[in-house]
Amino acid sequence: MTPSTRYTLHATRLDTPISSLSKLSKEHVTGLKRLNLNTIQDLLFYFPVRYADANEVSSIENLEVGSTVTLYGIMEKVSVRRSFKGHIPMTEARIRDNSGLIRAIWFNQAYIGKMYPEETRVKISGKVQSDGKGFFLSNPQIEKAPLITPESEESLFGGKSDGEFLTPIYRETSGVSSLFLLHLIKRAVTLGVLDNISDPIPSHTISKLHLPKLKDAFIYIHFPKNENLTIAARKRFAFEEIFYLQIKQHIEKAEANHSLAYPIKITKEHLQDFVSSFNFKPTKAQLESIDSILKDLSKKNPMGRLLEGDVGSGKTFVAACASYAVIQNDTKDTPLQVGYMAPTEILAKQHFESFIKFFEGTDISIGFLTSGGCKKFPSKTDPNTYTDISRAQLLKWVSEGKINIVIGTHALIQKSVEWKDLALVIIDEQHRFGVKQRKSLAHKKGDKKKELPHLLSMTATPIPRTLALSIFGDLDLSVIDEMPVGRKKIITEIVPSLHREKVYKHIKEELEKGRQVYVICPRIEEPDDEERAKKTIRSVKEEANRLSENIFPEYVIDIVHSKMKADEKGEVMLAFKNKEINILVATSVVEVGVDIPNATVMIIEGAEKFGLAQLHQLRGRVGRSSEQSYCYIFTESTNEQTLNRLNVLTKAKNGFELAEMDMMQRGIGTLFDGKQWGVSDLAMEAIKNPKLVEVARQEAKEIIENDLSLENFPKLKEKLKEKQEVHME
Ligand code: ADP
Ligand code: MG
Repeated sequence: MTPSTRYTLHATRLDTPISSLSKLSKEHVTGLKRLNLNTIQDLLFYFPVRYADANEVSSIENLEVGSTVTLYGIMEKVSVRRSFKGHIPMTEARIRDNSGLIRAIWFNQAYIGKMYPEETRVKISGKVQSDGKGFFLSNPQIEKAPLITPESEESLFGGKSDGEFLTPIYRETSGVSSLFLLHLIKRAVTLGVLDNISDPIPSHTISKLHLPKLKDAFIYIHFPKNENLTIAARKRFAFEEIFYLQIKQHIEKAEANHSLAYPIKITKEHLQDFVSSFNFKPTKAQLESIDSILKDLSKKNPMGRLLEGDVGSGKTFVAACASYAVIQNDTKDTPLQVGYMAPTEILAKQHFESFIKFFEGTDISIGFLTSGGCKKFPSKTDPNTYTDISRAQLLKWVSEGKINIVIGTHALIQKSVEWKDLALVIIDEQHRFGVKQRKSLAHKKGDKKKELPHLLSMTATPIPRTLALSIFGDLDLSVIDEMPVGRKKIITEIVPSLHREKVYKHIKEELEKGRQVYVICPRIEEPDDEERAKKTIRSVKEEANRLSENIFPEYVIDIVHSKMKADEKGEVMLAFKNKEINILVATSVVEVGVDIPNATVMIIEGAEKFGLAQLHQLRGRVGRSSEQSYCYIFTESTNEQTLNRLNVLTKAKNGFELAEMDMMQRGIGTLFDGKQWGVSDLAMEAIKNPKLVEVARQEAKEIIENDLSLENFPKLKEKLKEKQEVHME
């Protein structure tokens, strides 16, 4: 039996492992794993990042001295010897392609001769040099070129590369080159994997929108004859993803509409008392949001509302009012419950502490639940404070309805958490939280009837409409579009290295006034030697040492980063809040939500390492009081693009404007991490196209209105299930 027939027997299904396509070396196996490629399906959906220009692969006869080139050829005359009076081992060889020959020399690399013996097909890249004997490549990079099926060999090794298709370039990793991936995909296709492939998108949708069928789209994307075909294929795959998202959302919306929630009744006057207990006057935008929320909460069907407001616009206050309304609800004898989920421990702790202050003097009890530990307010012995309690104790009280509000991290959605009457879920900066999660959160003790909690999802990320529609579907939207009065614009400067001392001098003045300072570094540990040599990346630990030894010896400096234990982090944050620490050196753990108004200065080191939206979030840690705040941005980068990008921070008036400017400069995918929402880069690009999103919405709506359980669309149903499983991992 020849190898190819042996493989043929198995390799025709999408879920067949890649290993049955071709013999894989150890490097292949680890490389494929690193790229997360396991099955033929993974391969087919591993789209090229671009297509090689015909010029990118050079032919030997056209080489020019000084240019950097990539060649495909065959090793000839390989010899291993010692040069320079026998001191340096070296490999010398000739590379031949259809157009000619060139010498290649590797110093100190005798093993090359063994790894790539004569007749090996190789891909080789390096700079063309010349000596008395002609052109040569010195220490070029080399890798094995795979054995491609005979018909493509011509276009790879021939002088012309405009042969049968554009050469796809995939994201590579060591051991797995683009060529090898192409080889595998080609093999799968030759073995007939596409022959029986079924298209999950209904055929009437495909033809209505003139999209290529699934099978054709795979061919167009991996073996395109021209660019138009690649565009058609990408459009199809982008549509596909948005279509699935829309289907899912319409299903969720329908389910939510069919579910019952606790209708909440509270008078405005009653809430007014609570509002006036704050030491500030709410903004008009805050009041409007609260109004819409109260209206939603009073209905029989669950609320699904997204509250969007720039960093520092006061979303927590709105969340507190909604919580208060739910607990003071007068339609039920026993109080209802609220779950409040934050993305990090630090933030959960902060919300816990804020809520304790907000609800001081009421009889509302608040629990704190994270994997790091549990707490309860008020404590049994001292009603003014909280105590640590066991998880079991907290869960028991929650299930008995003895705790009104539980604030925590993801630990809140674990199965073991049972509620008595969970009526409202508040999610801070967590973008995906569907009906399924809501349902699973609403575990109730021994109760058959299950109300779906109202949902308030909050975000500081300014989301363009098309993206909001794609990701959040039909969540209703409230926007807080004004800042509390008296806030001053944060003075933001990009500081050239030579003005560092001046900045430190100014910071000393602020410290003397009693203000506090954040210093943000891109990493925790010492950088390696190379980075240190280039002085590119500062680490939290090193920077804290440097600042306390050389710059601010008279001030208290401490650090916080993600590798510290929850308790340690909490202690440091508390000490900073209590002004026992003057300067806090941190990673981006303080990115989201941390609220310490007395901190008015931020330094961001290695700013080029952060995305713009992230920098905006980080900067939002200052400017939280009526004092003037400052943000100093340091970068060692001299790259013009990088500097332009950072400059947007100094120009944009608010997060929305910043998002728009950034999107224009760099495209949508860089600002919003699609993975956070389970959306690929391709779909993120497509979301920029409002027409495509709208069509996908319409199509999905039509299907779901007529066939909620997708009985007539089994392939589509299967695909959605598959996607769900991937996302649950
Ligand atoms: P974010 O929207 O980023 O979550 P926060 O809710 O943390 O913002 O609020 C930022 C700060 O502004 C907090 O210290 C909060 O107490 C304060 N704040 C909220 N609303 C107002 C207001 N209307 N007037 C003055 N300060 C306010
Ligand atoms: Mg917040």
